[in-house]
Amino acid sequence: MSTVFHNPLSIPVLGFCAYSGTGKTTLLKQLIPVLKQRGLRLAVLKHAHHNFDVDIPGKDSYEMRKAGARQMLVASHVRWALMTEDPQETDPDLVHLLQQLEADKADLVLVEGFKKLALPKIELHRAALGKPFIYTEDPNILAVACCDETQLPAQILRLDINNVEQIADFVLQYAATWRPPHPVVKPLPLDAGETGDGDNLSVRQGIDKILAQVQPISATETLMLDDSDNRILACDAVSPVDVPQQTNSAMDGYAFVHREPLPEAFEVKGEVLAGHSYDAQLQLGQAVRIMTGAPLPTGANAVQPRELANEADGYVRFSGTLKAGQNVRLAGEDIAKGAVALAGGSRLGAAEQGLLASLGFAQISAVRRPVVAVFSSGDEVCQPGSELKPNCIYDSNRFTIKAMAKRLGCDVIDLGIIEDSEAALTAALAGAAAKADVVISSGGVSVGNADYIKKVLAAIGEVHFWRINMRPGRPLAFGKVNDALFFGLPGNPVATMVVFLLFVQPALRKLAGELDWQPQLLPAIADETFKSRQGRTEFSRAIARIGADGQLHVTSTGSQGSGMLSSMVKGNCLAVIGDQDERVAAGQPLYILPFGALL
Ligand code: AMP
Ligand code: MG
Repeated sequence: MSTVFHNPLSIPVLGFCAYSGTGKTTLLKQLIPVLKQRGLRLAVLKHAHHNFDVDIPGKDSYEMRKAGARQMLVASHVRWALMTEDPQETDPDLVHLLQQLEADKADLVLVEGFKKLALPKIELHRAALGKPFIYTEDPNILAVACCDETQLPAQILRLDINNVEQIADFVLQYAATWRPPHPVVKPLPLDAGETGDGDNLSVRQGIDKILAQVQPISATETLMLDDSDNRILACDAVSPVDVPQQTNSAMDGYAFVHREPLPEAFEVKGEVLAGHSYDAQLQLGQAVRIMTGAPLPTGANAVQPRELANEADGYVRFSGTLKAGQNVRLAGEDIAKGAVALAGGSRLGAAEQGLLASLGFAQISAVRRPVVAVFSSGDEVCQPGSELKPNCIYDSNRFTIKAMAKRLGCDVIDLGIIEDSEAALTAALAGAAAKADVVISSGGVSVGNADYIKKVLAAIGEVHFWRINMRPGRPLAFGKVNDALFFGLPGNPVATMVVFLLFVQPALRKLAGELDWQPQLLPAIADETFKSRQGRTEFSRAIARIGADGQLHVTSTGSQGSGMLSSMVKGNCLAVIGDQDERVAAGQPLYILPFGALL
């Protein structure tokens, strides 16, 4: 059978197939009004002969299309039609065609033709025609509609080709029970990767080799909680208190003793506000008015919200259900005294800072920030703000690198642009390595110019020049200059960013003391074809958004030149086509790597 069909829509697609002469169109013309009358909104997609036309010579739309318009859209206030000239060698791509439909305005797509595709179908069969069955070759046939004289095995669902109501029943049942398929879970593309030879590495191998060289910073400093944003907690925060401290009310209402038999009415003994307490023991049949967060009186074990209570003459009556423990927060239910409230290695965001504050911490111990020195190289690279010389390019890499490093909580030293001379480069590198934990440069690591930077690095450090099987960002230099880690990123601006995200980011996070950080890949569905090459991991700039089917869908930002920073601006993620895949077709699952908070 033909290729697998992935329905890209959030509504079911059902095909009708038959040999010509069976009466497919005749049946559909009878079926459609019945389905419509029963409340089903329909879209129909029909396969046609290659030289079909819906327009008529002489009509403006026909003439304009013939004059060369690739697309022609004619519209009135009741109807519109879009005609597209899309000549292809092979049959039209059903997934692409389905995507042209307004799936939010239909409940089902009926497909006529496309007999060879593996979509769910009803086969129409007339014994009188003497044609073979399709179901014997095609496992996607859900039912065969045929005449009385036709013999079918018992396991094949049989419909009466002359009973339109019965076929409609089947279609309605199919539409009602259909659910969108979950995307197929594939192995994570960054976990894959065969052993390359020598300096030729897969993405995973590159990351692993780098992380093996990174020793987390051990120096710590004490910080006020207010100054701890985006810092890494140096050791476990153990809770000195129960959170909440006391068992308290989760609602404004009445606290009472829940024990059978419950009285009809409860005597209201008083009121407890947050920050206060009711000091007597509450007895069965008694209640106190209580505010959210106020401690429960001893003896009380339930709270009824104010909306379900009616107080009169010193007594309260409850409506609604009453259960022991309802609307009560137990002491220590969030965090118990002595428990690890936040593990060392956590990055402190808003929630973490709030949690530490809720435990009473005013200060914390944080890992010292990594210091990152950044420079650019290349005689063609110019400082923004200065005049752009002929044949030159403004330095953008230093700015993307600095911004990403700062967002990761690093202190950044900007070394500017270093001219292409051995002496200048040697001095810059040695100086940077003395001050920084990590030195990052961009440019000058591709095969053409690697020899030059190699010579300098060989003299003052140990650096490997790798070819990573990825695009963009094939060349990468990594090693050590004195005690500092050195990254030589590729010069192309998009490659610089992608290589930073994939290789520098995990290294900086590990260095900063963050525990076991992994890139967050998300499964999504390709809304167009993403191309790659087997043996190479492709990172296409892409836009991910939730589709009408509630699943994550991804489209490319367009041209993928590795110098086009605008693609990083337009996109919100990288679509990752792993080294096992040659391409990911429209409608197929793939993984994305959201840029997240780093860009
Ligand atoms: P290279 O790796 O030095 O051969 O550089 C590859 C490409 O990236 C060339 O087109 C360079 O002009 C460009 N490039 C190198 N460094 C920078 C930079 N700092 N900012 C922007 N583009 C750069
Ligand atoms: Mg260069």
